[in-house]
Amino acid sequence: MSVSPIAETVASLMPRARAELAELVAFRSVADPAQFPRSECEAAAAWVADALRAEGFQDVEALDTPDGTQSVYGFLPGPEGAPTVLLYAHYDVQPPLDESAWASPPFELTERDGRWYGRGAADCKGGFVMHLLALRALKAAGGVPVGVKVIVEGSEEQGTGGLERYAEEHPELLAADTIVIGDTGNFRVGLPTVTATLRGMTMLRVQVDTLEGNLHSGQFGGAAPDALAALIQLLASLRSEDGSTTVDGLAADADWDGLAYPEADFRKDAKVLDGVGLIGRDTVADRVWARPAVTVIGIDCPPVVGATPSLQASARAQISLRVPPGQDAAEATKLLTAHIEAHTPWGARVAVEQVGQGQPFRADTASPAYTSMAEAMRVAYPGEEMQTAGMGGSIPLCNTLAALYPEAEILLIGLSEPEAQIHAVNESVSPQELERLSVAEAHFLVNYARSKQS
Ligand SMILES: [Zn+2]
Repeated sequence: MSVSPIAETVASLMPRARAELAELVAFRSVADPAQFPRSECEAAAAWVADALRAEGFQDVEALDTPDGTQSVYGFLPGPEGAPTVLLYAHYDVQPPLDESAWASPPFELTERDGRWYGRGAADCKGGFVMHLLALRALKAAGGVPVGVKVIVEGSEEQGTGGLERYAEEHPELLAADTIVIGDTGNFRVGLPTVTATLRGMTMLRVQVDTLEGNLHSGQFGGAAPDALAALIQLLASLRSEDGSTTVDGLAADADWDGLAYPEADFRKDAKVLDGVGLIGRDTVADRVWARPAVTVIGIDCPPVVGATPSLQASARAQISLRVPPGQDAAEATKLLTAHIEAHTPWGARVAVEQVGQGQPFRADTASPAYTSMAEAMRVAYPGEEMQTAGMGGSIPLCNTLAALYPEAEILLIGLSEPEAQIHAVNESVSPQELERLSVAEAHFLVNYARSKQS
């Protein structure tokens, strides 16, 4: 089979990519000054900035974002009239957790069984190396056919929103025709996958009050309204018998029409105990990518140790509702609030407070950018067709960029396939995935530039 010149170049660049990834992984760039000195992040940011300058990027700068971290920016002008593509990655990493549980030191890139182990190897230092490889391959093939902006965030894992706020304050900075977020992953190794949807979220706190103070359960139990019992009954109304989420008026029957998520794979990924059933109905992909899901993430009530025979005067819960693409998070918040008020029994007093909200995201998979990526994936993964997956969680920056640049198409790809075990001990990257996705990204930029000419 013939290999594209780009693929040949990327293959020849892999030893250098490995050496660079090892240098990057060696920075303990956890963006939490309570755990690691800030100098580790600053050194990683400086490394990224130097790498961009070496590739001919202009205006390279470590930007001080409002959360006290730095995001590295650079711009590589393209040919006259060419579109601009923004490439995203982040250099901060999750903490290593239990270092003794790692088979090799977390901040030393180590090869084992054909994979490269190290914190951040896949999430997301490898993502930055992927961008470098793609750009170098294009230069070797005659030049980068688009204008390229690169942004490498310094606090993605902390969720402190520094880059989001910086981007909102500097709305021109990241403007682009298309955005490639290099921070997701293939559904499995070897299956090219683009993540096209993200669920949004709304978070509510509910307080139920029924009595002026706690009462003796012997003297009053059976007639006095117990706030904890009222809360339990209310929370139970958010699910049907089979565990499906039931919020009055909120549609929960959408179908997922992309990649299938086999139930056996899901059970394995979720580590469900033998004999325990899944909740909800229809396909797994319907449930985790296309439908709302309510989760009670906290309850304030007396702990078991030290419990006294009392009826509770007050009880509190925190509820998260994942909001699928196609629904509006504000509308979902309204419906959930109304549901809670309507289902609180016995006239108990109920107060609902919103503590967070993010909109869902859906890319236009019929756009020129998606068509260009599908073509590129065919070259990088011969014999495979690009699959469209969803993600049950959110990437807040995605929403920020979608809101700032509603015309820009956003593609999510990356190295975090399931075997990468991101956020866990023994994180690793597949060098084959790094190589193929770099080839795909380079071809994508060529195809995309061409699609914009015609
Ligand atoms: Zn990441």
